[in-house]
Amino acid sequence: MSKKTRRFKTEVQQLLDLVIHSLYSKKEIFLRELISNASDAIDRAKFEALTSPDLVEAGETLGIHLSIDKEARTLTLRDNGIGMTADEVEQNIGTIANSGSRKFLEQIREQPGAADVELIGQFGVGFYASFMVADRVTLVTRRAGQGHNAVRWVSDGTGDYTLEDADKADRGTEITLHLRDGMDEFLDEWRLRQIVKSYSDYIVYPILLDKPAPAAEAKKDEKPDDEADDDDGKPLNSMKAIWRRDRKQVTPEEYNEFYTHISHDHHAPLETIHFAVEGGTEFRALLYVPAQAPFDLFMRDRKRGLHLYVKNVFINDDCQELLPEYLRFIKGVVDSSDLPLNVSREMLQDDAIPRQIRKNLVGKVLGVLRDMLDKRPDDYRKFFVQFGKVLKEGLAADFENADKLKDLLLYPTSKTSGADTITLRQYVERMPQGQKDIYWLSADSVEMALHSPHLEVFRKQDREVLFWVDPIDEWVAEQMRDYDGKPLHAIDRGDLTLDGVEEPKAEAEKHSALLKRIQEDLDADIQSVRFSSRLTDSACCLVTDAHGMSPSMERLMKAMNQEAPKAKRILELNPTHPLVSRIEALYAEDANSPRLKEYVELLHGQALLQEGSALKDPARFVRLLGELMVRA
Ligand code: ADP
Repeated sequence: MSKKTRRFKTEVQQLLDLVIHSLYSKKEIFLRELISNASDAIDRAKFEALTSPDLVEAGETLGIHLSIDKEARTLTLRDNGIGMTADEVEQNIGTIANSGSRKFLEQIREQPGAADVELIGQFGVGFYASFMVADRVTLVTRRAGQGHNAVRWVSDGTGDYTLEDADKADRGTEITLHLRDGMDEFLDEWRLRQIVKSYSDYIVYPILLDKPAPAAEAKKDEKPDDEADDDDGKPLNSMKAIWRRDRKQVTPEEYNEFYTHISHDHHAPLETIHFAVEGGTEFRALLYVPAQAPFDLFMRDRKRGLHLYVKNVFINDDCQELLPEYLRFIKGVVDSSDLPLNVSREMLQDDAIPRQIRKNLVGKVLGVLRDMLDKRPDDYRKFFVQFGKVLKEGLAADFENADKLKDLLLYPTSKTSGADTITLRQYVERMPQGQKDIYWLSADSVEMALHSPHLEVFRKQDREVLFWVDPIDEWVAEQMRDYDGKPLHAIDRGDLTLDGVEEPKAEAEKHSALLKRIQEDLDADIQSVRFSSRLTDSACCLVTDAHGMSPSMERLMKAMNQEAPKAKRILELNPTHPLVSRIEALYAEDANSPRLKEYVELLHGQALLQEGSALKDPARFVRLLGELMVRA
């Protein structure tokens, strides 16, 4: 391949500009990003060597070398990992394949200034962090198992890069940073040791600082007592897999750095779960509950966060089989010595050992969440805002743990304020004597639920109602049915009976002809019409019969492009409301008045609007309302 010059894709250039010009204070994190990439590349080489043993020589030390050249003002990073082909370099380094990065850029474009540059790593642009400290970066790489073809990639980060064939004796990647003015700290051995120690200590491969060129070494020999000499040849990192260390010996900072390494999320996790299971199936796990949901939590092809190691060998970073879908937000590492190195997807799904591991992990995570709820309710609330939707999926999938999951749910209610929420347990404890059911109402928002006519009688009787404002809630309620032996009951259902609420029978008899007339006028839309005493302030409302589909479920199905069966509902009228009295009077004056039909239509329209449903003919509704106002 002759030398060719290519332009960065626009989005890459935008990203680079951002990296170079951002006032990001911790420039040293470029080293963490490059070391992290190198470590991943060695993981992959080791993994491929399981099936192609020639890839890695027996006894070969896998590791990462740093070297500095003070004269040339360069810092070089070398790994003997998997390397890249020319195509891979173009794919990985020249473009942003990752949809996340694009999303990140969009965010920045939408709210300039608000973007958190710490997010860079999350979107897989770690390599570009080099340009924070370097004005030219050279990358020479040779893919393992692809003969001797190596490739050199060079760029100054301002628009173009070049690609050409190169010589490289061994597999792996070598990255040379030509440091910008003022970046001399990264030529300092002591500083590099310090950075590696604080950001990359958990890396399981040795990170070595190569001896400087002979000329410089001669000078150093003159002062043999130099402190740095004590560490000569020793890795800068402790290399101990963090999950294999004793919990008491790991600092919170180390846990958090490791979290950043595996998750690419720069927010500290909400919870760290580190444990070992012994006797029977043995494994170690280091799991994290993130504080922030990733943007792709609900995308089908997203990577999951679990890294699997078998006998200390990295197997994959997207292990989907050891945690159920509804815990997909958990990040971390599972290391088992009981599984074979050639463990397959099928084996992970079906075999007894992985099943045992999965059961253990689920139990542990649910236990930790419960603990957080009890002891750190504020943190738990934060967690639930981010991941509650996902957790709820478990109710339909994991019947074994259904009771534990029910206890982890939080809901706003007619008696909480603002963003406050309560558990089902709290609801039951607050239930007044004699209340047997748990009442709920689904709505598009807390605000809308609070203004629902269905709530009026509950308010009057001082009974609390849970609000389902998450589209998934109603579906979850179908799975739950009851809590603690108490049935869940929707308050906008026609079969609701409440103590102290009598059906206004006399009223119905007195106005039976009018009710018949309303039924005729609205026949296409309603199943029946009746008087009800559940309303105090509103003139009317719509209720669903016991087995009908609720309006919010109907809207949800429509939003998902599914055919929702057209369910007619029951129109309930408040006999004490002046609007209803007006209609009664109108009917008494002239049963054939054309205005009557219009009033009935307006009444029905109000009920639809109040529950958040769309009007069948909004233009007609507006015209009727306008005419009414003019007459008034
Ligand atoms: P990320 O590591 O988040 O994916 P980067 O921009 O840092 O994003 O790297 C992009 C890709 O380039 C990596 O996913 C990997 O495939 C490849 N890569 C980066 N550094 C190396 C390396 N030292 N050896 C092999 N491949 C690498």
